[in-house]
Amino acid sequence: MELIRIENVQKTYKNGVVALYDFNLTIKKGEFVFVIGASGSGKSTLIKMLYREEKPEKGSIIIGGINVAKLKNRKVYILRRKIGVVFQDFKLLPKLTVFENVAFALELFGYDKQSIQRRVIEVLDLVGLKNKIRQYPDQLSGGEQQRVVIARAIANNPKLLICDEPTGNLDPDTSMEIMHVLENINRLGTTIIMATHDREIVNKLQKRVILIEQGRLKKDFEKGTYYNERY
Ligand code: ADP
Repeated sequence: MELIRIENVQKTYKNGVVALYDFNLTIKKGEFVFVIGASGSGKSTLIKMLYREEKPEKGSIIIGGINVAKLKNRKVYILRRKIGVVFQDFKLLPKLTVFENVAFALELFGYDKQSIQRRVIEVLDLVGLKNKIRQYPDQLSGGEQQRVVIARAIANNPKLLICDEPTGNLDPDTSMEIMHVLENINRLGTTIIMATHDREIVNKLQKRVILIEQGRLKKDFEKGTYYNERY
């Protein structure tokens, strides 16, 4: 079943830079997709449009039946409920514990106390951090902080998890651990789109790979085996 359909999308920024041209892409429910390409090729722009941080001036972006490109600002929350987002910089609230950081996200969605308690423990267990719930972010390693961010992003059970360079600040071993966490989440049914520069990860994981070049979709590989030095 299809989760995302992007058709004829064009995105021009206010300064005249065209970041995406005539962009077409479909992603099925349950897929794990890497988005790769040189710096400035349009990866972040694509990702920002998926959760409506940016809007295209042309084309349509349908996610789970919602036309994101046409969605009214006051309805964006409906889309955001379906999408979790993970960035390179961890953005945890420093004065809250691990538990509270994840719980806070669920409070915003209006969950009751008991469900929050249950779900926070469940997702922290899933990312392997159940034993650190009372720690503060600055007492955690970079990899552990990123696990908390991932737990927070999936707490609400989103259909789609979008990751923009989630391993950008991590060493290779820690990056691979984070990738195993993401693979696990994907196995449980969440569709994942991840922009990355990390060749080792892309080559090792053998997932679908989309290559963007100067705002255009250049290659779409079923498995990442063709990703090599030429790109
Ligand atoms: P990537 O994520 O692959 O590095 P981006 O999507 O960030 O690429 O950028 C694509 C192009 O759009 C680049 O030329 C970049 O300079 C430009 N761009 C990105 N964001 C903005 C913005 N807010 N305003 C103007 N130009 C932008």
